[in-house]
Amino acid sequence: MATGTATLQANYINGEWLAGSSSNVIDIINPATQESIAQIALAEEADTNAAVAAASAAFPGWRTTPPQDRIQYMFAFRELLLKHADEIAAITTKENGKTFAESRAELARGIENVEVSCGIPTLMQGYNLEDVARGIDEMMIRQPLGVTAAITPFNFPAMIPLWFMPYAIATGNTFILKPSERVPLTAKLIFELLQQTGLPKGVANLVVGAKPAVDTLLHHPDVRAISFVGSTPVAKYIYSEGSAHGKRVQCQGGAKNYVVVMPDADMDMTAKIISDSAFGCAGQRCLAISVAVTVADSAKKFNEALLKIASNIKTGNGLEKETTMGPVITAESKSRILHLIEKGVDAGGKVLLDGREGLGNNGNFITPTVLSGIDESNPLTTTEIFGPVLTVNETHTLDDAIETLSKSKFGNSAAIFTSSGAAARKFRYEVPTGNIGINIGVAAPMAYFPFSGWRDSFMGVLHGQGKDAIEFYTDKKVVIERWPKEWSRQF
Ligand code: NAD
Repeated sequence: MATGTATLQANYINGEWLAGSSSNVIDIINPATQESIAQIALAEEADTNAAVAAASAAFPGWRTTPPQDRIQYMFAFRELLLKHADEIAAITTKENGKTFAESRAELARGIENVEVSCGIPTLMQGYNLEDVARGIDEMMIRQPLGVTAAITPFNFPAMIPLWFMPYAIATGNTFILKPSERVPLTAKLIFELLQQTGLPKGVANLVVGAKPAVDTLLHHPDVRAISFVGSTPVAKYIYSEGSAHGKRVQCQGGAKNYVVVMPDADMDMTAKIISDSAFGCAGQRCLAISVAVTVADSAKKFNEALLKIASNIKTGNGLEKETTMGPVITAESKSRILHLIEKGVDAGGKVLLDGREGLGNNGNFITPTVLSGIDESNPLTTTEIFGPVLTVNETHTLDDAIETLSKSKFGNSAAIFTSSGAAARKFRYEVPTGNIGINIGVAAPMAYFPFSGWRDSFMGVLHGQGKDAIEFYTDKKVVIERWPKEWSRQF
């Protein structure tokens, strides 16, 4: 534990800022410098219970607030997020390490969801039909669930909480965010802005804790729905534990994303886009391309173009203007990634671009790394690396490439680069992933589309964002009515 920084009041419960009650005080570390930028006492079971109690108490009043009035808070929130965008982005960069431009970009993608949630008076409508039988009418209405919660990861501290919170609140639920305890400062600032909108107390709460806070949410009888984004093992735990406790659960897990490079692709453009996807955010994106499969004779041209671009990436502190790639999140993460690279090298893999030395300073830096000749069963191929490492493999046909990538247990995303419509269509049709990029490196759905994901990358039925979010945050109620003339006073 570093000294000299005051413990923050990082929890927002029932409209008040409070410190966590745990004796476990953690440092928030800047990954570019290894310096402590804040200290936080983690939230415990009691703090989380207090948040659930506040959200439960706020629900009846919030639920009866007209949707048109509820979205006024979202309009105001959007304005505040835009006004404070640079401040939010600077904090994201300090605690997460990504570049300032990347922090601004993720915030923009988060704000998109606030904007979509402003359409709730239309989006939340049900439907009806008169005369389902003579004189009988039927309608479906949507009602909010009650207390909802989201548990989010370190890699998009601003955007991912906004995949859930605006929809939950605008549909009339109350909400608790449990952000990654590694990056709580962005969430704190976002909640300070939400507070400025005058949102009634208890409608949105922030709890910065670790497993004890998560387990309290999973087991609490008053929590109706849980959204999770993070690694697959934790996603599986949350999905099974939350479901066993009667909650509606959606869990977005880890990934291993392939790209197929066809010989008819524009190699310079393809290499540039793939490099941005593999090394942007230091490879810590769930949609980052991690394996490139070159088809037929595309390998030589693609590899040359890729290495030229990747070796020009400027790794450094994300707050410095010239930096185009930041560090990875922790020193442990850096050693885990270096260990995986060693496994590939030990098995005969060839290092085409070597970033293992990093920058030789205190930060968690690995510079872009490219390897070839890595076997399908090597841990470098089977594991989610979550770092700036790309492996390139060669194959003869598109069928072989699709067969290879289909063996992955993950199904978050896959991409193809080609100028052939037939190849693109075959890829879109056959590949078993929830998001597909055709000449796109990071196939991140806009807020008005679901953020899909298949296999071990997603557990649940309804995804985050778009119409799925409305479905997830509402219960359908069907009313069948008969009003016989003879039962009513005649006028
Ligand atoms: P993580 O699974 O370690 O943590 C995610 C959240 O779960 C955090 O809030 C953390 O406090 C909590 N948590 C961690 N261990 C827990 C446990 N044992 N019990 C209960 N809660 C626990 O993930 P991370 O390292 O923060 O984020 C990186 C991962 O997130 C990667 O695997 C990445 O692919 C994934 N991710 C997926 C998507 C997607 O859309 N599929 C998006 C972003 C990130």
